[in-house]
Amino acid sequence: MAKIMDGKALAAEQMIQLKTRVDALRDKGKTVGLTVILVGDNPASQVYVRNKGKACQELGILGDTIVLPAETSQEDLIALIEKLNREKAVDGILVQLPLPRHLNESEVLRHIAPDKDVDGFHIENAGKLFTGQPGVVACTPKGILHMLKASGVPLSGKEAVVIGRSNIVGKPIAMLLLNENCTVPLCHSRTQDLAAHTRRADILVAAVGKPRFITADMVKPGAAVVDVGINRVDGKVVGDVDFEQVEKVAGYISPVPGGVGKMTICMLMENTVEAAERKVL
Ligand code: NDP
Repeated sequence: MAKIMDGKALAAEQMIQLKTRVDALRDKGKTVGLTVILVGDNPASQVYVRNKGKACQELGILGDTIVLPAETSQEDLIALIEKLNREKAVDGILVQLPLPRHLNESEVLRHIAPDKDVDGFHIENAGKLFTGQPGVVACTPKGILHMLKASGVPLSGKEAVVIGRSNIVGKPIAMLLLNENCTVPLCHSRTQDLAAHTRRADILVAAVGKPRFITADMVKPGAAVVDVGINRVDGKVVGDVDFEQVEKVAGYISPVPGGVGKMTICMLMENTVEAAERKVL
């Protein structure tokens, strides 16, 4: 049976350390501040934003949520971001995605000051990751790497297969794993014979968005399987991995819920604390 990569427990440990850092900043007169902008009333986004607010509360971060109507114009949204860029009390700015269709996401994200871009989606931060320079790393990939390292999964020289090539998960985790000296095939919907790739993987990251897509026959015995997927099936949240069957083959596996999702919020908090520390320390 696979060892569980317990994101919930790892995040709880990390939150204790982050609390100490938030307290240390407060002792220096700096209250850490995160502003989340939510445009519209997407129910999943509302849940994510609420969870971010709870994590802020737990750490003593001043978490502010600005809710804008779905029909907000791009100009107004950008004007708000630029105002927040200038506010000293705001260390991190997060625009909850997805945005309503009439708004251009990459254009909006480009207006967040790179230092305050705690989601790590600004083109400057993405570019830094891709060119091996220090910058803000996107929360989900950062959390995945933290989870693999904390679980003692060997990385250097290993084959790490990533399925999914989105800008927010697939590409950045591929880059992080490459930086750890893994060999990294990056698979997607046009990949031919996906299972031939996944069966070679020492580390398999599934970021597809299809429930129980990865089956036991696609997994190399002993592999570390990271399930990024969040899919709602019959009112239940399930991942991209058939957990019950894959658990019997893999060496390590992350559950859904209680895996990558927990790490993601924790890394958002870490990016926010780091943004505040850059100003003060
Ligand atoms: P996207 O929809 O942007 O990307 C999905 C990727 O999967 C695409 O690259 C697509 O390929 C690929 N894909 C689709 N079908 C197949 C297939 N049959 N074979 C191989 N590849 C396929 O999703 P995201 O990256 O945004 O998210 C992925 C999942 O992770 C979702 O379930 C999402 O909810 C979850 N998620 C979880 C987070 C967390 O904190 N735990 C954070 C962010 C996302 P192509 O590019 O060719 O279309």
